[in-house]
Amino acid sequence: MAITLKSPSEIAIMKKANEIVVKALNAVEKNIKPGISTYELDSICEATIRENGGDPTFKGYKGFPSALCISLNEEVVHGIPSKKRRIKDGDIVSIDTGCRFEGLCGDSARTIPVGKVSEKVQKLLEVTEQCLYAAIDNCRAGKRLGDVSNAIQTLAEEHGYGIVIDFVGHGIGRSPHEEPQVSNMGEKSSGILLQPGLVIAIEPMVNLGTGNVKVLNDKWTVVTKDRKLSAHFEHSVAVTDGDPIVLSENIFK
Ligand code: MG
Ligand code: MG
Repeated sequence: MAITLKSPSEIAIMKKANEIVVKALNAVEKNIKPGISTYELDSICEATIRENGGDPTFKGYKGFPSALCISLNEEVVHGIPSKKRRIKDGDIVSIDTGCRFEGLCGDSARTIPVGKVSEKVQKLLEVTEQCLYAAIDNCRAGKRLGDVSNAIQTLAEEHGYGIVIDFVGHGIGRSPHEEPQVSNMGEKSSGILLQPGLVIAIEPMVNLGTGNVKVLNDKWTVVTKDRKLSAHFEHSVAVTDGDPIVLSENIFK
């Protein structure tokens, strides 16, 4: 499938789709506390998306049952909400959701610490988010996709973290996943040339141990092979003539 560039009016709608995503993530984050089930958090996510006029894109996607992916601790991405799974003090909780609004999609994720976590864990979260912003800073016309990937790789490796390469970011638009794939590792000045109108979801998945992962028997949940902790941050970003637009920036803080 070819890459489709988005018009300014499409990007404006994608901004609205992402605002709904941000509202949903904020509502979930506010309710993340010890004792709540991941199922309840999914219900909050779905209700917030629907109340704001969006359709949850994850629900039913290739058979995924929920609006929210919720991945705890050594889980990297694609964790399935469950009535039996409850949040505990000291967990790190990755929340990832997407929605469609007026035919266009938004997608964003963040990792939330519950209560007090060690400095080592706090650092993992901070650096993973910094990797995302380093990548975003490279989303400029004239740069190449490899510059975006390389920014993540360079910063994560500087801190000795493992980088997940089995799962990647992606183009986004009328479909939740479009070309191009956006790897979290790559060579500078390689890959496609970035042009105004390109919209990509960039999503570093960064591990305390190695970057190796496996999929659990539920066919969805991705965990680190060494069962060490993993963090995940994601924004949908539009390339323009000037600075990149972070469509899923949290403007409601
Ligand atoms: Mg996502
Ligand atoms: Mg995504």
